[in-house]
Amino acid sequence: MKDRVFIGIGSNVGDSEENCIRSIKEMLKDGRLRFQGVSSLYRTAPVSTIPQDDFVNCAIFVSWAGSPLSLLEFLMSIENRMGRVSDGRKDSPRVIDLDILLFGNLVLQEHSLTIPHAELHKRRFAMVPCLEIDPQIIHPGLRRPLAKFLGKIDDQQSVERIRKISMDEIGL
Ligand code: ADP
Ligand code: MG
Repeated sequence: MKDRVFIGIGSNVGDSEENCIRSIKEMLKDGRLRFQGVSSLYRTAPVSTIPQDDFVNCAIFVSWAGSPLSLLEFLMSIENRMGRVSDGRKDSPRVIDLDILLFGNLVLQEHSLTIPHAELHKRRFAMVPCLEIDPQIIHPGLRRPLAKFLGKIDDQQSVERIRKISMDEIGL
């Protein structure tokens, strides 16, 4: 079975636009993943108590022929390959962050994996790219249109569109 999945991508260390693009290319190399769509790139304010640079964020929409845990492992292997190092603190700067935001209509709460992503409906930088791809998304856990949650978010969470991602630059 192939599930329709939204993956959130973020970077605020190094060339962040390039890091996001490279992570998409890395994902597309795997035969279990089929590309369905990609959002624009956005410049976003960090949601963290640690002072740090702005992020570049985007999202891709794919189908995944495997389990949610196999997808998480796959995304973590790309984060590692791209040189993500943890300083042990949550919300610290990162070369690349790949999150499973939605996995079909699945609602899952396991030790290492929460689906939909626990912060999806609280983070403008995660919702805006997904809603650009599909404005009709329903949050399967909260059972409401994702767009409804945008209105509840603090204005400090700025999200500015930078540009579209071309099929050429991700090798499609
Ligand atoms: P965040 O992306 O929320 O800033 P991190 O990337 O630092 O946090 O957290 C990584 C950990 O979050 C992973 O080790 C993974 O086990 C856990 N996790 C739980 N749910 C998800 C999810 N839906 N997508 C990605 N990672 C998740
Ligand atoms: Mg993450």
